[in-house]
This record gives sequence, structure tokens and C-alpha cells, in this order.
Amino acid sequence: MNILVQKFGGTSVASPDNRALAARKVVQAREANFSPVVVVSAIGRAGAPYATDTLVKVLKDIDPQVPPASREMDMMMACGEIISTVVFAHTLQTMGFKAIALSGGQAGIITDDSFGNARILEIRPEYIHSLIEEGYIPVVCGFQGITDPASASRHGSITTLGRGGSDTTASALGVALNAVGVEIYTDVDGVKTADPNLVPKACTLDVCSYEEVAEMAHQGAKVVHPRAAEIAMDHNIPLWVKSTFSDKPGTRITNEPAVGGSAGRLTGITHTGKMVYIRLEIEQPNHKPLVEREVYRMMARAGINIFLVTFSPTSLSFCVPRDRYPIARDLLDGMVVPVKNEDTTGGKTGTYYIFKFSEGLDLAYSVQRPLLAAIEEHVNIVDVPASVIESCTMISVIAAGHRRIPGMMATIFETLAAAGIAVYQTADSEMSVSCLIPESEVDRSVRLLHKRLFEN
Ligand code: ADP
Ligand code: MG
Repeated sequence: MNILVQKFGGTSVASPDNRALAARKVVQAREANFSPVVVVSAIGRAGAPYATDTLVKVLKDIDPQVPPASREMDMMMACGEIISTVVFAHTLQTMGFKAIALSGGQAGIITDDSFGNARILEIRPEYIHSLIEEGYIPVVCGFQGITDPASASRHGSITTLGRGGSDTTASALGVALNAVGVEIYTDVDGVKTADPNLVPKACTLDVCSYEEVAEMAHQGAKVVHPRAAEIAMDHNIPLWVKSTFSDKPGTRITNEPAVGGSAGRLTGITHTGKMVYIRLEIEQPNHKPLVEREVYRMMARAGINIFLVTFSPTSLSFCVPRDRYPIARDLLDGMVVPVKNEDTTGGKTGTYYIFKFSEGLDLAYSVQRPLLAAIEEHVNIVDVPASVIESCTMISVIAAGHRRIPGMMATIFETLAAAGIAVYQTADSEMSVSCLIPESEVDRSVRLLHKRLFEN
């Protein structure tokens, strides 16, 4: 059947002119004897009349004191893609093609019921297959699915897949339909060595491995969602990032070993959004692992992603995205972690660690601490004041096998030091080196590192 999944992002469907260009890509695929299956995002970016944020605001404004129920919130969030799908399908129809708009549910996308961040459980491809056989171009809503219509409690509720969800829809459909490839069309002509908004000179990568692009995405390059790369990787489906607005070949993402192979290869520089750095000192090294585990469990339960976790015998430190920080702080402030003392010579059987964040007067610490005083004769109470740096950003150099690139670490740190840019924390993995820096220095750091590592 030669199915080709083509996904168009918000800008690609934002205006009649842009939609005409996007439709041209679909027609070209048809002419090349592919059976295109189109996935679209909502029309336009934040602020546009039918953009998801605009629709959500309608709901939130009803009474700002009462947050909308998650099920209804998802139903509202899914409207943007429904509008976009209908408009795109009709655009193709006006051009003389048989096209049909499908919601996520109609496309057979079944998810769990984690509203706002649902996971695709299964895709039932039969209907899409039959439509293709009848000569239709299916145009599917990105970013959404439904819970199993046969399930007793949530039957057929509309769900959304979280930020970047349309990329995930495209990859998952590619797998389910056994497509020959998945094309992610956007407003840049591929995956670049840095965010082109900061580095206009950034070059487009011709080829890239799934791992490299997933790492770029995890470390902040929002050009394609990491989940989409991971799904394509698991099933070895070729993925492309291309521009709707040019005829350049774009970036081909496959499992071929990265260029440079055993020598290591530099892929790009990324930066994240705003972050907050939190450090807690635990004086007794043997207590640290347990305290650490409780802290990370708490973050996981709240669905807060943590970054730059550092390993030191007596302190635990990590970053959270700034928009999640108020929740992280509320959870951690006043949190008590009891640890059994191995050595009870002082007559105290345990040590209770209590975390304290300085801002605010009504934080939980001030309530909890006096209560603990009552048991102080039996256990040690240890106050753990949090050190917090509020305005940071993480920049990362993505370089598979960077330990085999001589002097790379030194180059990164020298470049930042020579420019007087503070580095609060660093971390590295097989795929990347990350530095936590003041938020105000992001643009300069990315440009300097790009110049040093890519422009010679
Ligand atoms: P879409 O709405 O098409 O999904 P996105 O805004 O999600 O588009 O992603 C495309 C944007 O990603 C580009 O406009 C670009 O500003 C940004 N971007 C950030 N880092 C990179 C990078 N390394 N390569 C390409 N684009 C990047
Ligand atoms: Mg996107």
C-alpha cells in the first residue's frame, strides 16, 4: 500500500496560503505513488483564535477559581485539531481529491485515561486501511485519542497526549499502518545544530540517528517530540523532519550509525526553558540514599520531571522546570523523612530530616517543625534548609560518544569560563554534556558554543 504519514504542525496549517503549501506536499506524495495519511496540529501557535491555548482559556475564564475537570479539559483541548482536520480535508476536497477528516477515535487511536498526558495503548487501523482502499486521503487529528469504547467507566472519552502529541500520533500511526516513512513537516528545513532563533547560522543535519534526535528533544530542542523518535526507533520506521515552505530534502532520521561512528560525533547544542535548581545537604552519607529516594519518589508521584541529578556523598541536587517549581516546593517544604539510626549509642533510635524552603510564611515547615519538637528526646531532628537558584537554564552539547572526542569537555568549560559565564552544575551521559547556567546567559552561551564547536 506504500503508506506515507505526513504530519503538519501549527504554522504549516495556520493560513490558507500555508495550507495550500502543505496540501501540495500531500499531492506530491500521491503523485509519487504513496498513499498519504495526513496528521495535523491545531491551527496557529499560542494566541491564534483556534489554537489550543485560546480554547482552554474560554473554559478557564468561566470561573478562574474552579479548575475545569480533566475530562472536559481534554475534550476542549481536542477541539483545535478537530477544526484543523476538517479545514485541511476540505482544502484537499476543493482541490479535487477525496479526503476525509477523522478524529483520533475515528482513526482507531485508543489510549489510557490519563487525561492531559494519555498514552497510546493500541491503534486499530482497519478503518483507515479501508478508506485508503476506497481512494481517500485520511486527515487525522494529532494529539488526541479516546479511551476504549468498551471500557465500563470511561467509555470512549476523548483524551489528549500532552505537548508535542501530534508528533507522537504521526509516529504511532506510522507503526500501526506499517508505513514506509513518517514525515514531520514544520517551519524549519530539518533538525539543526542549534535553535535557529538563537543561532541563525545553525546548519541543518542531513542524517541523524533516532537516539541523537531523541536526545536533542529530551534536552530541549522542541523541533520533534522525543516520544515520536522513540516510537519510530522501536519499530525502525524512517522518520523525516522537513519544511512545508521549501523543497529542501530535510533531515532523515534512521538507525544507521551516526556519521563519525567510533570517533564520536557532534550533533548539536540545545537549551531548555527556565529551571530552578534545588540542593539539599544530608550530612550523614549513609542516610543520603534513603532520603534521596523519598525525594525523587515524591517528584515522580507529582509527575515532575527532574534534570541534572548530581551524585555526591552528602548532598542531593536536581533541577525542575520553573513552572513546576511551586508544586515541587509545596511538596518538599515541611516534608519529613525518617531514617532509622544504625548507631543508637546516643539513645536516639532515628533521625528525622525535615526540609525547609525559606520563602513564604505559611509554608508547611513552620507548622511541622514545632510538632516534631515533641519527639526530640527520642530522635534526632535535622533541619535541611534548601539552597535554591531560581533563574537558570540548562544548555547541552549533544555528542554521541563524546568521551572519544578529545578535549571536548575542556572546550565547553573553557568557552564558558572565558566569557565569564557561571556554571552551577554539570552532568554528562554517553549522549550529551549539560551545564546549568544563569538564564540571562542562555543566548550568549549557545552562540559561543556553536561558534566554537560547529563554525570552523
Ligand atoms: P510545529 O508547530 O511544526 O510542530 P514546533 O514549534 O513544535 O513546530 O517546532 C519547530 C520549531 O522548533 C522551529 O521553528 C524552531 O524554532 C524550533 N527549534 C528549536 N531547536 C531546534 C533545532 N535544533 N532544530 C530545528 N528547530 C529547532
Ligand atoms: Mg511541534
